[in-house]
Amino acid sequence: MSGIDSLAPAGKRILVRSDLNVPLEGTTITDDGRIRASVPTIEALSDAGARVVVLAHLGRPKGVPDAAYSLAPVAARLGELLGKDVAFATDTVGESASATVAGLGDGDVAVLENVRFNPGETSKDDTERGAFADRLAELGDAFVSDGFGVVHRKQASVYDIASRLPHAMGRLVETEIDVLRRLTETPVRPYAVVLGGSKVSDKLGVIDNLLEKADTLLIGGGMVFTFLKAQGHEVGQSLLEEDQIDVCRDYLARAEAQGVKILLPTDIVVDTTFPSGEHTPAPVVVPAERIPADSLGLDIGPASATAFAVALAEARTVFWNGPMGVFEVEEFSHGTRVVAEALTKVDGLSVVGGGDSAAAVRQLGFADSDFGHISTGGGASLEYLEGRELPGITVLN
Ligand code: ADP
Ligand code: MG
Repeated sequence: MSGIDSLAPAGKRILVRSDLNVPLEGTTITDDGRIRASVPTIEALSDAGARVVVLAHLGRPKGVPDAAYSLAPVAARLGELLGKDVAFATDTVGESASATVAGLGDGDVAVLENVRFNPGETSKDDTERGAFADRLAELGDAFVSDGFGVVHRKQASVYDIASRLPHAMGRLVETEIDVLRRLTETPVRPYAVVLGGSKVSDKLGVIDNLLEKADTLLIGGGMVFTFLKAQGHEVGQSLLEEDQIDVCRDYLARAEAQGVKILLPTDIVVDTTFPSGEHTPAPVVVPAERIPADSLGLDIGPASATAFAVALAEARTVFWNGPMGVFEVEEFSHGTRVVAEALTKVDGLSVVGGGDSAAAVRQLGFADSDFGHISTGGGASLEYLEGRELPGITVLN
């Protein structure tokens, strides 16, 4: 028996670390995706008769209470999604938390105020973090780790607490880790990896590691231009990381030596006025090796988008991280839309990872269910794919 059932949760106070770090405008939640993703574990524990105490953070407060980062609106939304009252404690380990937890009956749910209102949560000092974890542990009989977006962080409510209480993975973390294993251990082939986004330097570890595992690497987004430059082409005003040109050249050589196909765009949508938003003259499509000196590459061109979709149609496993262009602007969203569409048709496992990539598919009108999996943890999934250890997972094993 693994997972939450192994804790025999009925009647116990179960501390659940969730990732409820949603975007807020004032007290209005603009995207409740992370709260929804946290519901299955909380609901399962509540249905099993546990007294559920949810730990979470919101934003980056400076280790002191800050009303702008209160979890109160999040607790209210969680209550709506669960269809039941959710108690809210106005502190994390103080009198309100103690009283709130003591007041829970079997099956009840409470949310404690932002763990990051306490300096011990994110402290680099093991003793300070441990002292805070000790106080958190007094509030529960067992711990469930379900905040996938934070499992790469060595923090009190993620890491230190697990060594103080009986513990288990929550359903979200189990699902995420299972998908990541399928992408790294024995992927069903052909395995295609699509990488984009803004910078190569953000994704070096991922490229390094997946170059060993994938059959095809498709490259779009802002990182394209450093690859094009590495091939000897001029890229005009496009995003270019001079200090990564040699690295990209090395990736191209390694791919060739290992028989991994790298697909780069052959055409690019360029603009001379971005980011003014005027688009006069209108954006044009140019060959990738002839980007004019005054132009900025902002999307892969239509021929490239089609070629990417064709390549993806053959794949049985696809991992995608990083938009193909500046998808936030309609004129530069075509490549991202075509790639997203292609992922929805994959006969096999399709996975979207990365915060902006997940936002892109939703903004472009796709449903989460169109994909095999949309990872809730950008940083955590990328670190896993780099082959790095995730402290919040290691501590559970
Ligand atoms: P993720 O969060 O999915 O890992 P990134 O943070 O790496 O993705 O990149 C997302 C950003 O990359 C988007 O805001 C998008 O506008 C930007 N981007 C994509 N293509 C380009 C480009 N050609 N030039 C500049 N920025 C780009
Ligand atoms: Mg991002």
